Amino acid sequence: MRRLPIYFLVDVSESMVGTPIEQVQDGMATIINELRMDPYALETAYVSVIAFAGKARMMSPLQELYKFYPPKFPIGGGTSLGCALNFLMDEMDHSLQKTTTEVKGDWKPIIFLFTDGNPTDNVDNAFARWNSHYRRHCNLIVVSIGDNVNTQMMGEISDNVLRLTDTDVQSFKAFFKWVTASIKTTSVSVTDYGDDNLKLAPTDGINLEKVDTDKPCKVDEHFVVLFGKCQNTHKTYLVKYARSSRPSEFVPYDVSFFKLVGAYPIDEATYIALSDETQSNRKINTEELRGMPTCPCCGNQLGVVICECGNIFCVGEDSHNMCPWCGMEGSLGSISEGGIDISRTRG
Ligand SMILES: [Zn+2]
Ligand SMILES: [Zn+2]
Repeated sequence: MRRLPIYFLVDVSESMVGTPIEQVQDGMATIINELRMDPYALETAYVSVIAFAGKARMMSPLQELYKFYPPKFPIGGGTSLGCALNFLMDEMDHSLQKTTTEVKGDWKPIIFLFTDGNPTDNVDNAFARWNSHYRRHCNLIVVSIGDNVNTQMMGEISDNVLRLTDTDVQSFKAFFKWVTASIKTTSVSVTDYGDDNLKLAPTDGINLEKVDTDKPCKVDEHFVVLFGKCQNTHKTYLVKYARSSRPSEFVPYDVSFFKLVGAYPIDEATYIALSDETQSNRKINTEELRGMPTCPCCGNQLGVVICECGNIFCVGEDSHNMCPWCGMEGSLGSISEGGIDISRTRG
C-alpha cells in the first residue's frame, strides 16, 4: 500500500500563544478523528507534526492514523522558518520511501505550513534547497494565520498560499474542516485514480482566501509579547498585546498602541529550548501598551512590572517585593516607572 504522507509544520512562536495555539491543538485532534472515520484516509494517510519557533522540533513522527496521538504544542521565541524548512526536508529524506525499480514509493507528500508571522532567520538557503530539490515532489500549502505574514515571500516557495482572515474560534473550526476535507479528497484521488496532485476543498463560507503572491505585501507588527516571571511561584508566563487598528474612544487620533490580549503560563525549559539563542534588541515603550493582566501563575494584580534589570515580574498587595530575575528588592514605587523601554520577545 502506497502511503500518502501528510506533514503539519506549525509555527509555535510567542504570538501564537492563547487562542491560536489552542485552536491549532484542537484542530489537529479534529482532523485526526475525522480522518480515522474515512476509509480512504485510514488506508493511505500517514501523519507527522513538526513545531517550530526559534528552533524546530519533531512533535510526532510520520505514522499511521490509528497510532497517531495529537501532540501538545509548546511555545518558543522566534520564527525560524529557514530552520524549520530544513528540518522538514531532512525528515523527508529520512522517512519517505522513494520509488525504485522494485518498489513504488510514497505518494507526493502534502505539507500544511501554518504560520502567523515573518521569519526571524535567514531563509535564503532553505528556500533555494526547497525550490531546487523538493518543491516539484511535494504539495505545500502555506496558510497565513491572520494578516501578519509576508505572503509575497511565501509565494517564493508555494503556489498555494492562503490566508485565514479571521482568527476567532469559529473561523478556526471551519478552517480545520477544510483541511480535513482537502486531505480526504486527495486520498480518494490517489487511491482511485493514482493521481497525487493536490485537491483542495472549496473554501466557500470559510474565512480563508487564496493570496495573490505577486502583490507586494506590507506587514506591520501586530503583536507585542512579553516574557514574565511570577514573583511568588517563579514560574514563567507570556503577556500578549495586539495592535489596536481602530481608534479608541479615549484617544481617537492614536492608532499606534497595543491592547492586552491575555497572560498565559508557559513552561520555561520548553520555551528556552525552542527559542533562538540571539537576544532580541527590539524595544517597546510601555506607554504603547494598554491594559494590565493579573499574573496567570499566582493571581497577583499587576502582571507586568518592570524591574531595573529590564525583566518583567508580577506584584501583588505586598509593598515589599523582590525581582525573581535579579533578586533586587524594593517597594513597587521604586521598581515600576511608566514608559521604560523593555526588551521584547521575537516571535
Ligand atoms: Zn505571580
Ligand atoms: Zn530584576
